[in-house]
Amino acid sequence: GNKMCQFKLVLLGESAVGKPSLVLRFVKGQFHEFQETDFLTQTFEIWDTAGQEQYHSLAPMYCGGAQTDTTNEESFATEELQRQACPDIVIALSGNKADLANKRAVDFQEVQPCADDNSLLFMKTSAKTSMNVNEMFVAIAKKLPKN
Ligand code: GDP
Repeated sequence: GNKMCQFKLVLLGESAVGKPSLVLRFVKGQFHEFQETDFLTQTFEIWDTAGQEQYHSLAPMYCGGAQTDTTNEESFATEELQRQACPDIVIALSGNKADLANKRAVDFQEVQPCADDNSLLFMKTSAKTSMNVNEMFVAIAKKLPKN
């Protein structure tokens, strides 16, 4: 039969990269041009760290934040991941705001090999157009341990 499993999904990334926007797109199929932060946190139990300092110590990663705004090179700054603390962790790197191609500050072709080297899922996403949003959450779900 079917077994229910619960996992914690933590969204990490600088302010304004689109963390709740990705959740809102995934959960409700909506996008708001002026997103109010934090309202989804309680409802869907998807943790939005809202850039809180204490999460930086457990934050990704080798290629950039777990959630990134690809129009902002700063948000791709590298941080160390303490992956050994949680061996089953699944990490996906979202290059969000992919719809804003003309403002691109991040070269996706440089990110992909780094993501590959570190076994990270990497997707260019857009909460606005919904590009790859479902795909990203589903890809994470598929990689979760099943026992
Ligand atoms: P947070 O600071 O990480 O919580 O990001 P928000 O979800 O609040 O998004 C910040 C701003 O970016 C909001 O004005 C969103 O409407 C906008 N935004 C989020 N995702 C996208 C996207 O994929 N494309 C575009 N063009 N704007 C986005």
